[in-house]
Amino acid sequence: MAALTPERTNLLGLTRPALETLVAQLGSKPFRARQLMNWIYKRGSGSFADMTDLAKDLRARLAATAEVRAPEVLALRRSADGTAKWLLKADASQAYEMVFIPEPDRGTLCISSQVGCALDCSFCSTAQQGFNRNLSTAEIVGQVWLAVRELGRAAPPVPAGEAAAAAAASGAERQVTNVVLMGMGEPLANLRNVVPALSILLDDFGFDLSRRRVTLSTSGLVPQIYRLARMSNVALAVSLHAPDDALRNELVPINRKHPIAELLEACWHYLDEQNGRSVTFEYVMLAGVNDSPAQARALTRLLKGHPAKVNLIPFNPFPGTRYRRSPAAAIQRFRDELLQRGLLATIRRTRGDDIDAACGQLAGRVIDRTTVRLGNKVFGVAVHP
Ligand code: SAH
Repeated sequence: MAALTPERTNLLGLTRPALETLVAQLGSKPFRARQLMNWIYKRGSGSFADMTDLAKDLRARLAATAEVRAPEVLALRRSADGTAKWLLKADASQAYEMVFIPEPDRGTLCISSQVGCALDCSFCSTAQQGFNRNLSTAEIVGQVWLAVRELGRAAPPVPAGEAAAAAAASGAERQVTNVVLMGMGEPLANLRNVVPALSILLDDFGFDLSRRRVTLSTSGLVPQIYRLARMSNVALAVSLHAPDDALRNELVPINRKHPIAELLEACWHYLDEQNGRSVTFEYVMLAGVNDSPAQARALTRLLKGHPAKVNLIPFNPFPGTRYRRSPAAAIQRFRDELLQRGLLATIRRTRGDDIDAACGQLAGRVIDRTTVRLGNKVFGVAVHP
């Protein structure tokens, strides 16, 4: 009869204190956890055999009880503009997505916090598939770990053949400089797993990202914004999308429970509590729905005088949607109305829409196994050792 194999602890799900406890339980000094994190997060190693500065018996005990397991890649697609989208396995029939958006001065990784979403925003394709489950801390952190490994480091300016060796030698910049929780799911509906993941992203011994380079985006779960303010200090983005409750009730149904005034109160509280610079308000541009100059003026009245930035997102269509993207001229006019009244406003450049990787297009479709295998061949999932 086969022996029952107890499930190994995935170290990607453990914060530093939790890892210290585990290391102590295995009979070593807690500070060994830092060495372990150094291997996992700074050097991207998932193999205990590599970790030669750890005592042999600790390595053996780790190998017997623990593992470093990244999400399994089902497919990788690359956009003509350099954006990459990974389809990751949640279980036999479910998948979630992660997107990397390279820009000249930074590389932003957009990660998921749930498989599907329960919030039911009318213009979002993730909403259409409904909610399946929360991602674990290890699955959230594992996305970043996987992307850092797959993308490698930015090549320094040397001839191509020498690039890899030189990158290793010079400690060239990691390609992932920013992380946004703007993929599938509502991160504040999964605080239990998201908060420890944030702490690993920020930990000096973890990914060591500055808190201003990690952004959590929420559709507006007001009580959870207050809870987050006690537990984390990352940058906050809020999906506002409408300047009045009647319209927001339609677009973002959670507004019926937590209307705009309450939501903004929670945002200003978050900034006070965490000494944050500003909240970014996302506003999807839907033709004839929320894009008139009068609506821009109403939006200014809501936010003027507060530490707020507005990010206008041209709507990204998906099959079956009843919405259309506002024309470019309407988006610019809307932005100008905000700027003229002293509100900071930018227009988000649409990236990766040719591979359905743009905002609101992530649906984590589960593709049939043959296509997956073909996808792997075509796109060549490159995992750097
Ligand atoms: N649930 C969180 C995290 C998702 S972030 C939230 O709502 O904030 C993804 C951003 O893309 C949100 O601002 C979301 O409202 C926006 N979005 C959703 N569908 C979109 C679409 N079809 N086109 C453009 N933006 C969209």
